[in-house]
Amino acid sequence: MEDWQKELDRLSETGMRRFLRVIDGAQGPQVELDGRRVLLLCSNNYLGLAGHPALIEAMVRATRDFGAGSGASRLVSGTMRAHVELEERLAAFKGTEAALLFNSGFAANTGILQALFGPDDLIFSDELNHASIIDGCRLSTARVRVYPHADVQALEAIMRQEAPKRRGRWLIVTDGVFSMDGDLAPLRELAALKRRFDALLMVDDAHGTGVLGATGRGTAEELGCLQEVDLHMGTLGKALGVCGAYLAASRTVIDLLVNRCRPFIYSTSLPPGAAAAAQAALAIVEGDEGRRLRRDLQRKTALFTAILRAAGCDLLASSTQIVPVITRQPDATMRASRRLLEEGYFVQGIRPPTVPEGLCRLRATLMASHADADVENAARAIVRVVGDGDDG
Ligand SMILES: *Cc1c(COP(=O)(O)O)cnc(C)c1O
Repeated sequence: MEDWQKELDRLSETGMRRFLRVIDGAQGPQVELDGRRVLLLCSNNYLGLAGHPALIEAMVRATRDFGAGSGASRLVSGTMRAHVELEERLAAFKGTEAALLFNSGFAANTGILQALFGPDDLIFSDELNHASIIDGCRLSTARVRVYPHADVQALEAIMRQEAPKRRGRWLIVTDGVFSMDGDLAPLRELAALKRRFDALLMVDDAHGTGVLGATGRGTAEELGCLQEVDLHMGTLGKALGVCGAYLAASRTVIDLLVNRCRPFIYSTSLPPGAAAAAQAALAIVEGDEGRRLRRDLQRKTALFTAILRAAGCDLLASSTQIVPVITRQPDATMRASRRLLEEGYFVQGIRPPTVPEGLCRLRATLMASHADADVENAARAIVRVVGDGDDG
């Protein structure tokens, strides 16, 4: 216990200790924090679907009809009609033979990689991939070659170097939209490499699903290579507004996961209400309303980033609703975040190990439901606060 307290003290001393913030009331473009309304600029509820009446209605109705919980894991007695219907819908959405639900994206990535890859296999992983992919790679016991962020030429060189000693399966795994940088993976180029070297391609589209592509099918649709992806992983808790995750893939892969994937097998399945709400979310995403929400989100993002870029802020290569504003050191970052909160803007500061040393940032995320004026005022506040780092 004393050792653990010392570890916490060390985190405090170096400005690296993290604390939970409690939201009162509902999730929306503004939330109540410590008794004050603040503009929410750090939610993944990009399309505002978490509070959408159609999702709430679907969740309430399914809960009334089928119960609050599923009562068991999927292979025992916890596979309910709502799960199967959602899986069929997700497979159709991604254009694959089948799909499988998971309780979270974290469980999905760790479970999928562990179940499908082993010691003879080789996984090529982008250096900025999500923590759950990194842990999945470790659990798989496959050999892992981490390639520089989105660097297709470097990856090609590594693959060429590995080719002569190849034994098992090869996988390229990448975030679709990178969660801390807001840029897109070069999926078309990765797909070309996968074909050339006879590898598989897995995309984690936690932040692209619902948001990118003409019909919201995600990063691969946006980049015109939906058919090239072998393993489409995505989440239901971000733009889709609920919770849980999925893999859309071939029937063989899905059937194998049903037999081998530990987080799928040994975990109580999602509540039927969550599955029903996620179906309602997909119906919105694929329809006219989804198109309108995506357009709104793009417009808010453009308003926001134009002001920051004009003021000379470093936004890395962000091209999505995830907008990093580089602040470099942890102290300055957390000070900026505190000052913004005092002004009524809730923006999280992000520090190592979530991002590399020296690349601390304010990470702002836009929502379709933000008001234009709020977005512009927030951008101006960030420019002010980041601009005078010394005081406060
Ligand atoms: C959020 C996220 C996950 C985890 O999904 P959860 O459903 O929140 O557990 C996985 N991958 C990426 C890229 C994410 O951003």
